[in-house]
Amino acid sequence: MLVDTHCHLNDVEAFPDPDRAIEEALAAGVGRLIVVGVDPTSSELAVEIAERHPSRVFATAGWHPNYAASFDEAGLDRIVALMERESVVALGEIGLDEHWDFASPAQQDRALCAQLEIAADFGKPIVFHCREAYPRLIDALEARPDGDPPYIFHCFSGDADEARRALALGGWFGVDGPITYRKADALRSLVATLPRDRLLIETDSPWMTPHPRRSERNRPAFLPLINEGLASALGITGEACAALTTGNATRLFGLP
Ligand SMILES: [Zn+2]
Repeated sequence: MLVDTHCHLNDVEAFPDPDRAIEEALAAGVGRLIVVGVDPTSSELAVEIAERHPSRVFATAGWHPNYAASFDEAGLDRIVALMERESVVALGEIGLDEHWDFASPAQQDRALCAQLEIAADFGKPIVFHCREAYPRLIDALEARPDGDPPYIFHCFSGDADEARRALALGGWFGVDGPITYRKADALRSLVATLPRDRLLIETDSPWMTPHPRRSERNRPAFLPLINEGLASALGITGEACAALTTGNATRLFGLP
């Protein structure tokens, strides 16, 4: 059994029928899914989907940097309310994005800092979205006092030095479709150096479709392709990789 630790079945355009995508994933051997929020409304929808499928589907609640232009206290209260629920296994995705320009650096910083402030209250892991902003995000995390919950660097795309600093913070690493791309030798080599007990697999669907389905919209049922890609990067069998990553996800998120 595999765990898709990061998917966006709450994206209503991409997944008009999320329950069907869940059934399809189950048939493909994906037995647990975590639906990730990007703002208050999408986080509430993630929880709704999760609570229709107890002990199979889980949710996160958080405010993504690309949506940080609309960040406000009322919305943060809605995220805090969701964090109390049992189906919500992490805060996120939160972070920084210097690739896109949907929110200014100041707006992104404000959303990130406010959410880091509430994180410790819940003792649940934090899922980070970080694009072309690893030095700034890691600097911010290194400046924090000890005792924060575990950090997950979702869809990790940093370099070896950033990986070293992320590990020193107790970080975990999400591996996605790019591990299957022909031109991703550097990523495969880097991932092979990471401690195996810190690796997770995720589709990030509907984005980041793995090879050889790249002409299609990504979905949780494609997770086995990512598992195979990671297995070959690590030089282990698909079964061993499934056991490894499922064990990691179960431990980190406290899944049944
Ligand atoms: Zn995401």
